[in-house]
Amino acid sequence: MFSFAGALAGPALPSFASASGTVQTETNRPLAGCQAAADVSPWSFTHFMSSTVENVVIVGTGCAGLTAAIYTGRANLNPLVIEGSLPGGQLTTTSEVENFPGFPHGVDGFQLMQNLREQATKFGARFEQAQVQSVDFGSSPRRLVCGDRVILAKSVIIATGASPRMTGVPGEKELYGGKGVTTCATCDGAFYRKMDVAVIGGGDSAAEEALFLTRFASKVYLVHRRDTLRASKIMADRATSHPKIECVWNAAPVAVEGVEQGAVSGLRVKDVHTGAERTLAVKGVFVAIGHVPNTGPFAAVLDVDEGGYFKPVVGSQVRTRMPGVYVAGDCADHVYRQAITAAGMGCQAAIEAERWLAEHEG
Ligand SMILES: Cc1cc2nc3c(=O)[nH]c(=O)nc-3n(C[C@H](O)[C@H](O)[C@H](O)COP(=O)(O)OP(=O)(O)OC[C@H]3O[C@@H](n4cnc5c(N)ncnc54)[C@H](O)[C@@H]3O)c2cc1C
Repeated sequence: MFSFAGALAGPALPSFASASGTVQTETNRPLAGCQAAADVSPWSFTHFMSSTVENVVIVGTGCAGLTAAIYTGRANLNPLVIEGSLPGGQLTTTSEVENFPGFPHGVDGFQLMQNLREQATKFGARFEQAQVQSVDFGSSPRRLVCGDRVILAKSVIIATGASPRMTGVPGEKELYGGKGVTTCATCDGAFYRKMDVAVIGGGDSAAEEALFLTRFASKVYLVHRRDTLRASKIMADRATSHPKIECVWNAAPVAVEGVEQGAVSGLRVKDVHTGAERTLAVKGVFVAIGHVPNTGPFAAVLDVDEGGYFKPVVGSQVRTRMPGVYVAGDCADHVYRQAITAAGMGCQAAIEAERWLAEHEG
């Protein structure tokens, strides 16, 4: 059975089984393909180029990428899926997922992603452990640079997700994902019924997360380094006037406590003016200081908004201004950022890619 952990431990750039079944390694590089491409590509002398043109390359193996792999696999497109540095995506970092349809008793995040991967593999998806560093979408076929390899593709689905920003204080990493530190109130709020929790942040998302958590938690500390929230006035007013929310002003997190017990027991905070420290006795810490969409390698050639999220063309959630290039999941969605919405966008992108290929190949 496949293991994401095993994949992570594997070589950085393993041999690559191409769509035609040939295996390309350092020693049997397709020199003819490389030479042909040398006329048009500045990469050709330093990168080795696949001679195979993939029907569809999917970048990312979170809910969006793997759903796209299942759909394009079932459409006989023999998709190549690039895993990136987090095989299985963000859900592999959490334990219990209770809101993915079809699992009335919840499902382990890692297991869910393993299931999606097995399903995609069953329909012919191939996986490569690599990271896309840059792309050239101005040429046809499209080119994706992964380390010293260039992958050629007729169509591309980018599903690279968004990484939550973290504070970096001691204990945060150790207790992240199922042990009390999280970045998603919608996902994990229900696990904190009748408990005290803390939200770190001062923007709209922090205010929203705090308000959402009042449905479950007994008390919500809203920890912010200033003495007013940065959130919009309406959100700030709602949060600061809520009887269950206590604002902890001028406070910066120092450490998440509970590492020895393997579960959050408190959040240590420091007054930014006096330096005085105290511990908030909470069982959950929600870090709400924003997300960084993983769009860097593509941002020069595709439209992104001021937050760095992909901006699809008007009228579509997944189509970009580059024909045959689609985006899906959290990298193009700063609003919902849920497993099911990412999967839905992966499905849309796959159907679009399939139709585009059919139209352009006759
Ligand atoms: C702790 C936690 C708990 C959560 N719990 C829930 C929950 O209970 N329910 C729910 O619905 N949602 C939950 N979420 C949110 C959910 O995980 C995300 O909405 C979902 O994973 C988004 O899927 P995605 O495919 O868009 O991106 P991701 O899951 O972020 O996957 C991105 C993929 O892209 C790859 N990648 C990135 N850059 C590159 C690159 N340059 N080259 C190649 N590959 C690249 C990564 O390796 C990864 O495989 C949770 C999130 C977190 C962090």
